[in-house]
Amino acid sequence: MQRLATRPRPPFVRWEPGYCCAPERWLPGAQSVLVGAVSYGHRYGKGVLSPRQGYFSPFAHRPDYHVLVREKLEALGQYLCALKPGTRCLVQVDSGPGCERIFALLAGIGWQGKNNFIIVPGHGSFVWLGMLVTDLPLPADEPLPDACGDCRRCLQACPTGAYSAPYQYAHQRCLAYWASRKGGLSAEEAKLLGKYRIIYGCDFCQLACPHNDAGNHEGAAGVDLADVLTMSPARFRELFGGTAAEWRGRSVLRRNAVLASAANTELRPALAQVAREQGPAAEWARRVLEHADADDV
Ligand code: SF4
Ligand code: SF4
Repeated sequence: MQRLATRPRPPFVRWEPGYCCAPERWLPGAQSVLVGAVSYGHRYGKGVLSPRQGYFSPFAHRPDYHVLVREKLEALGQYLCALKPGTRCLVQVDSGPGCERIFALLAGIGWQGKNNFIIVPGHGSFVWLGMLVTDLPLPADEPLPDACGDCRRCLQACPTGAYSAPYQYAHQRCLAYWASRKGGLSAEEAKLLGKYRIIYGCDFCQLACPHNDAGNHEGAAGVDLADVLTMSPARFRELFGGTAAEWRGRSVLRRNAVLASAANTELRPALAQVAREQGPAAEWARRVLEHADADDV
């Protein structure tokens, strides 16, 4: 098997026009692209967050899906190599130049929902995608017809208006994007991240979809805010090591925890502790405490 990247945490993708849809440029002689979808809907529970918890999307929980999906596709590649020795394969899971969603559509894995997620019949959009490119010629599948119909639930469920119309998504209006951004936040972004207590990821526009059947367990997708606020580097690794959120880093997750704690008076001592430090989380903690009794941060 050949990999686009051999490091456990691949670097960002090199991009140039047309490159994301040209598998023969990633693997000379490429004939087929196989797309894998692994369901993670069972990670969602029916529980709701307690006031002491922030939202940490199940898609990012352990084990890191990059590793999990890659292992499955590599096993598939080994199977192809056993069928025809000498077959060359290349696996990518959010780690190469190809766009998984485009190939999932072309391969008939699912249709594109109005929220732009790929919806797999019988599984919904809580699926991780990965691709295997090979020089083995295989019969092609057909794209699926759209099955959203008149539904607009996902568009209506987004609390920040990130969808101006079906398929029209502005990442600049998305809580998940703000929560993972390392740079500064506007007052509005900080206020909304705090209001929805987002630590990492946001799922309103997927949870609203009738094709998603979230898990039945009683748990909630939360992390303890006091724990995240006060976590040492070692505790950060315990809580987030091996998750897809780890690469965002301790500072960003603590900043989000500060914003998510703004309305909870029980968390003021932990916020005061953060405020005595240096860095973005401390700056936001000081700002939150200064405005503790006002309506804004
Ligand atoms: S992830 Fe959240 S904020 Fe982003 S588009 Fe979906 S519902 Fe809106
Ligand atoms: S919520 Fe409705 S419109 Fe949105 S993706 Fe699901 S089926 Fe399509």
